Amino acid sequence: MAETIFSRIIRREIPASIVYEDEHYLAFRDIAPQAPVHVLVIPKEPVRSLAEATDASAVGGLLLVAAAVARQEGIEESGYRVVLNTNGDGGQTVFHLHAHVLGGRPLHWPPG
Ligand code: 5GP
Repeated sequence: MAETIFSRIIRREIPASIVYEDEHYLAFRDIAPQAPVHVLVIPKEPVRSLAEATDASAVGGLLLVAAAVARQEGIEESGYRVVLNTNGDGGQTVFHLHAHVLGGRPLHWPPG
């Protein structure tokens, strides 16, 4: 798949505020936060989007890291939202699978 800015963050070629890392995943603060807590969780092995993901354990692991990040950020009890924008109408702009972890304020539903 085509390289994105997230691959450059993984390789530390551009800076990011990293909040979690393990062998398979990286989590860092969104550059344009939409909530007091707004962290992106990405797999280090790039997949274009959820629509192209085939590895169930990799997607499941992504969600578990999102939950761990929410706990670490102190928003587990107050609540949070995990979002995987997918393709055009889903609002995806970076085509490297990522989960947004949003919290720290009430989140409206449905999203706009
Ligand atoms: P999407 O719209 O694809 O679901 O989300 C992409 C997210 O990546 C956006 O929320 C955007 O603010 C964030 N983003 C784009 N470029 C960068 C960057 O260089 N650094 C960081 N930390 N976030 C970025």
